[in-house]
Amino acid sequence: MTYVTAVLRTDEPNLMHQAVEEAVRLLREGEVVALPTETVYGLAANALDPAAVTKIFEAKERPTFDPLIVHLPNKDQLDLVAEVPEGIALTVKKLVERFWPGPLTLLLPKKPIVPDIVTAGLPTVAVRVSSNGIFKRIIGALDKPLAAPSANRFGSISPTSASAVLSELDGRIHLIVDAGASLYGLESTIIKIEPGSPKPLITIVRPGPITPDDLKLYGKVKVAIRSVIDGPSDAPGQLASHYAPKTPLRLLERPSDFIPEEGKRYALMSYRGEEKDGYLNLTEWEEVMMLSPGNGKLPEAAVRFFYVLRALDKLGVDEIIAEPLHEHGMGIAMMDKLRRASVRYAS
Ligand code: AMP
Ligand code: MG
Repeated sequence: MTYVTAVLRTDEPNLMHQAVEEAVRLLREGEVVALPTETVYGLAANALDPAAVTKIFEAKERPTFDPLIVHLPNKDQLDLVAEVPEGIALTVKKLVERFWPGPLTLLLPKKPIVPDIVTAGLPTVAVRVSSNGIFKRIIGALDKPLAAPSANRFGSISPTSASAVLSELDGRIHLIVDAGASLYGLESTIIKIEPGSPKPLITIVRPGPITPDDLKLYGKVKVAIRSVIDGPSDAPGQLASHYAPKTPLRLLERPSDFIPEEGKRYALMSYRGEEKDGYLNLTEWEEVMMLSPGNGKLPEAAVRFFYVLRALDKLGVDEIIAEPLHEHGMGIAMMDKLRRASVRYAS
């Protein structure tokens, strides 16, 4: 099915009201709508309506073994979709108090009301509450949980602007609600919580804007990013092909490893554009794009990360070379994504 995809702005009050109204109308009718969140743009549908959720998988061409995150209108609806085991109830309560609304997703045992298509048949459901003002208005008016994975075709780069969504899904959905650039620019941190002594165990299964440091007050934090060659894990969406541009990408851990090939065109994704980092003069780059010029700040790099990858992908060069980032804070998530993107072309 092809649609005329409308992009509705929200930067003036009357436009915002119209956009919210139209989004709510479509969602009530069981349609999918691309919505802004504070992480990346999401492709939303009523999470309790299997037919509506099916349309997400169709529009994204996403395999149905890859489960979706369920967004709640508010914290109080957690009990509607998830079971909170007694052994972790206090920790869940504290985490929810501290981080919701915000970019932290919890994996919890699901309640029967959540259709199997949402969780890919898994016994757990991934839940969060978004802090984006427009998203909150829409989900609040609807007053239903929304399933909302990133609004890109499966395997492609997550969109952090309405125009990026349009380039991914034009003609495949009715509506994109435009609320400007995403605040964080990286998908939510996904965690699993288990009872433990003396502290509960918090396992990060997908790194994101909420960092191990942010979580350590609430338990013993382990980062268990699935290696790309492992089998199925708690975060099945963590496939190697995720986040990959179409252009081959290489994470160049040491500048000295680079031997440019004759006649090939290269673009550089630089962390901060500093000559002393050793990358700027490696070759005659077709293009150099910086994530965070100056001293290099990881949250700023995160905001630009998918935008820069997308822009470099459009150049039509032979290879994108990526500088490594500091592997702490939000750098953990970006390095994970760069490794996944480069492994795809590794052999
Ligand atoms: P996306 O919203 O596109 O970033 O994708 C959501 C991701 O959340 C999936 O690809 C999985 O990695 C993860 N996820 C969602 N639901 C579950 C679940 N029930 N168990 C484990 N991981 C999940
Ligand atoms: Mg995604």
